[in-house]
Amino acid sequence: MNRNQIIEKYKQNREVPVLIIGGGINGLGTYRDLALQGIEVLLVDQADFCSGTSAASSRMVHGGIRYLENGEFRLVKEAVHERNRLIQNAPHYVKPLATTIPIFTRFSGMLNAPMKFLGMLTKPAERGSFIIKVGLQLYDSYTGDTGTVPKHKFWNNQQSLRHFPDMNPDLVNTATYYDGSMRDAERIAIEVMLDGEKENPNAHALNYVSATGASRNTVTLTDRETGESFDVEPQLVINAAGPWIDFVNKALGKESNFIGGTKGSHIVVDNRKLFEATRGHEIFFENEDGRVVLIYPLAGRVIVGTTDVFIEDPADAVCSEDEIDYFLEFSKIVFPKIQIKREEIVYSFSGVRPLPTSDANTAAQVSRDHHNRIVEPGEHFDFPLFNLVGGKWTSFRAFSEQVADATLDRIGEVRHESTDTRPIGGGRDYPLTEEAQEAWIQTLSQETETSAERIGTLFDRYGTGARPIALFCADGDDRPLEHAPDYSEREVVWLTRTEKVVHINDLLQRRSLLALTGQVTEELLQEMARLIGTELGWDKARQAEEAEKAKAELVSRHRARI
Ligand SMILES: Cc1cc2nc3c(=O)[nH]c(=O)nc-3n(C[C@H](O)[C@H](O)[C@H](O)COP(=O)(O)OP(=O)(O)OC[C@H]3O[C@@H](n4cnc5c(N)ncnc54)[C@H](O)[C@@H]3O)c2cc1C
Repeated sequence: MNRNQIIEKYKQNREVPVLIIGGGINGLGTYRDLALQGIEVLLVDQADFCSGTSAASSRMVHGGIRYLENGEFRLVKEAVHERNRLIQNAPHYVKPLATTIPIFTRFSGMLNAPMKFLGMLTKPAERGSFIIKVGLQLYDSYTGDTGTVPKHKFWNNQQSLRHFPDMNPDLVNTATYYDGSMRDAERIAIEVMLDGEKENPNAHALNYVSATGASRNTVTLTDRETGESFDVEPQLVINAAGPWIDFVNKALGKESNFIGGTKGSHIVVDNRKLFEATRGHEIFFENEDGRVVLIYPLAGRVIVGTTDVFIEDPADAVCSEDEIDYFLEFSKIVFPKIQIKREEIVYSFSGVRPLPTSDANTAAQVSRDHHNRIVEPGEHFDFPLFNLVGGKWTSFRAFSEQVADATLDRIGEVRHESTDTRPIGGGRDYPLTEEAQEAWIQTLSQETETSAERIGTLFDRYGTGARPIALFCADGDDRPLEHAPDYSEREVVWLTRTEKVVHINDLLQRRSLLALTGQVTEELLQEMARLIGTELGWDKARQAEEAEKAKAELVSRHRARI
């Protein structure tokens, strides 16, 4: 069903067992899980799917080694398990990531953990090699013998500088350990959603529809494309609005104070020297005031982040000039010979962590664990209202499973399917060895009479999801985009038609890496407007308007150089 048909369906019949508000990774994960159990479920997002915090993460699939210091052992253990699962379930997008910590002191930070337990720590302190060694051993022990990632290694000053010649020579050691990198975070989220829909004709996800009100047994939804509102009658509501949870509850008529979010920003830099200096490792570094920062090579660019600042309204989260100054300053501590120029910043992004309200002394110390805060039926609503507070991208599957179990319990249903080892999207039947990948590419190349190079690009971009796309591209008159020749016209049509694209930036920011890597130009926007517009029935004026709107957003919120 398309967007209008789904809306029409609920205008005809308001009843729906489960309504999920928010299509970030936690909402989408819960949606897929419930869909797999055969439950009728409706998900709405006020904007595009995966456009809130879930589009603003550091793209690390990680256990969160530094949360050990906060004593969050349960969370780290669960997240390491989920990291391993994601490497196995989404091998097309999640790859093991060598992460290197440059260490400048031997003993600092040793007392952090005991002091935290005793409630004496006011702010994090720079961690020395001893405490990092202890932490990494514990971290490795959580990985166990799964073989998903190698164990950590310590290097002395000389060994470190041999491997990273541009690194600050004052370092004492470096430690290299492994986590996961998710290059295409937004694509994972969208494939999770589509997987749910493939299995259940009664699972429907709508972007650009917001929850705007409620009465005892109804929730009012507003289609942001037309301004029209309609009511649904859910048995249970899941508020998965991340940093907007309290805003949604207020709109529904119930004040809450679950979220005390902090903003984090990143810049994306096009600097060859810096890219090469990382040697493909994420450099995970701790600044003198204890804040963790990263320099992370990804898709030919380098992501530099992040910050941790308390913020009131998630809509205000954009990367500030001060944050950029801070990023440029600390990257010099690690790579003193490499200068990042402001004009090398091709993109920036910011998001708000949906952390629980807390009286911790610093943002870094607020718990990163996830909780389902339940508002029972009674005073405000006839339905139970679940609120998905906190959590990490990495552990979305576990959190979603816990929420889905609680939901099934409430609506008197049972679990039939587990998501634990279930492949995601183009991770299904993914060939793991280089030889198997080569054979897969050759077979499809012959079948579609398309060059192996082009099929290789599609395989890298979509995993085994490349197959239906290559077949579709081969089944008509296709050509490379004039202004992004790595993509083709029919590929854009396919994405628009099958992945719920409503506006141009849905494709540029969340179905591809074109915006993040700074490849968007005025000309590309026009070309996209024509292709997407033809598919969605936009006339010339609407195409021009959509291109202008997309540009304004990319420039004002993401520092795109268009
Ligand atoms: C700077 C930063 C770095 C991070 N790095 C990592 C990392 O490297 N690894 C990791 O595992 N985790 C990381 N995280 C944490 C992770 O990104 C978040 O925990 C996760 O994305 C939260 O997802 P969510 O679905 O709860 O929220 P969101 O993704 O914000 O989704 C909420 C959705 O609700 C929608 N919404 C709001 N109001 C309404 C309404 N009225 N009606 C309908 N929809 C509505 C929004 O549009 C939004 O799409 C990071 C977070 C930040 C901020």
